[in-house]
Amino acid sequence: DAQSNRVKPGTEPASHFDAVIVGAGFSGLYMLHRLRRLGLSVRVYEAGGDLGGTWYWNRYPGARCDIDSMNYSYSFSHELEQEWKWTERYATQPEILSYLNHVADRFELRQDIQFETRVTATVFDEATNRWAVQTDGGAHVSARFVIMATGCLSATKVPDFKGLDTFQGTRLHTSRWPHEGVDFTGQRVGVIGTGSSGIQVIPIIAEQASHLFVFQRTPTFSVPARNAPLDPAYESRMKETYAEYRRKARETRAGVIMEVNPKSALEVSPEERERAYQARWEVGGTSFLATFSDVMANRDANETAAEFVRSRIRATVRDPAVAEALCPRDYPLGTKRICVDTHYYETFNRDNVTLVDVRASPIEELTPTGIRTRSAEYALDCIVFATGFDAFTGALFNIDIQGRANASLKRKWADGPRSYLGLSIAGFPNLFTITGPGSPSVFGNAIVSIEQHVEWISDCITYLREHRLECIEATAQAEDEWVSHVKEVAGRTLYPLANSWYIGANIPGKPRVLLPYAGGVGAYRKKCEAIAAQGYEGFTLT
Ligand code: FAD
Repeated sequence: DAQSNRVKPGTEPASHFDAVIVGAGFSGLYMLHRLRRLGLSVRVYEAGGDLGGTWYWNRYPGARCDIDSMNYSYSFSHELEQEWKWTERYATQPEILSYLNHVADRFELRQDIQFETRVTATVFDEATNRWAVQTDGGAHVSARFVIMATGCLSATKVPDFKGLDTFQGTRLHTSRWPHEGVDFTGQRVGVIGTGSSGIQVIPIIAEQASHLFVFQRTPTFSVPARNAPLDPAYESRMKETYAEYRRKARETRAGVIMEVNPKSALEVSPEERERAYQARWEVGGTSFLATFSDVMANRDANETAAEFVRSRIRATVRDPAVAEALCPRDYPLGTKRICVDTHYYETFNRDNVTLVDVRASPIEELTPTGIRTRSAEYALDCIVFATGFDAFTGALFNIDIQGRANASLKRKWADGPRSYLGLSIAGFPNLFTITGPGSPSVFGNAIVSIEQHVEWISDCITYLREHRLECIEATAQAEDEWVSHVKEVAGRTLYPLANSWYIGANIPGKPRVLLPYAGGVGAYRKKCEAIAAQGYEGFTLT
């Protein structure tokens, strides 16, 4: 059975693999499947106790995807997408996790995954053209290829508050949630952070806690999810045309089909604008960003969308001072990941919920009994950190990655990531990064980007084998050109205007560069395909 097939930590049946994959989330699981189909020997190392990645770790109540479940799923197997039944428009974390377990069972993936094992270092040996891989269990193995499926949002971040360890109550991070769940009944709870995780967890904790204090530094733009049971008619329609639908989705900007209004927000009358925003607001979800063609491209157009959301906040939240404090003002809508919520703003109408504006009065320290801000002290039984991640590079930097001549990746990327296509790094042959910085990754439906990278990598490995080649490595020139291109495209967007995790602003000292590639999922795919078709242009093959 699946459980007894697992590799036990500490045992090494073989020390040489064709490929080592780091991480067993959506990326690592599919990569394993593809490479095994090529007949490669593969070992996956996963730090967590089981598979699922994001959906293994983020078990906080309210956790769900914000891309429709029928899109937020693999497309590589017709049988899989036909047999699986999603129950809601946006699947919950437990449902996505059971989907990934189903995938692992269906394709017999577990037998090659070693859980509770963290890769600590990997070093390229120029004499053998192989990577030495080291784990925290003390294992040393070697591999021709190393594939980092370590996740854009997997290295959690807790701000370095003074007195962090002195707090005597319960401390939780949304991304390290206890498997047995948490009962907040009768408790005074503080949530720090109002990004995507915060806005999902806050309404649910509010229903249980005796009092909830929401510590907000930056207000968030959130659109209603309008979640509902999945409509069976919609489901069968989608399943009938799934292949065609997925093909089209891959060509879009964000990996999902949404109706983009070709008009500018600035060319229509105020009434038409209001009607258009209201219609999208009623539908719910991230297609709000596509209400007009220039919402994400033009500051003034964006401001009309931002002001619409503020008007919804004011209409929802009864206390005008609280409503104002919840209104984002200092960054364009969508330049921090837009949130998709269920009753987030409404939660602030509850008597047992208090918004604490820590921009106005910052947190000074955690004390044994709670949180002290500049102006007040809050007694708490529990503090929930919804403080996000050291995104894109955090998980990679947790591994000591050394390429040719023992050059360290961390040092190479000290001023910002440098890669070719966000897939490959000069000086690091046969190492691939799935949804690495410099690729579209989280800009849109991550699964579309993951599948594209996995397929590109497995095609590349096939090509090497067919041509009896051992190594592929990005040239320094191709890398330089890609880095400039990523930067130039970023400069044409509004993203640099927000202090977001997209640009590393949530991590003190992190260089400020837009980490995902903003050129669009469809255009990026074409570029990758053209490069492969030209015999891997920009790479050295030996
Ligand atoms: P992950 O799922 O992060 O998996 C990476 C795995 O690598 C982890 O399990 C980690 O433990 C492991 N790992 C890392 N370093 C090591 C190491 N050194 N050794 C061993 N193992 C290691 N995207 C969307 O498109 N739509 C959504 O609605 C959406 N919702 C999200 C909600 C939340 C709460 C979060 C956190 C993210 C969400 N995302 C969403 C982004 C999400 O991360 C991706 O969609 C997708 O799950 C990423 O899969 P992955 O396999 O690339 O990475």
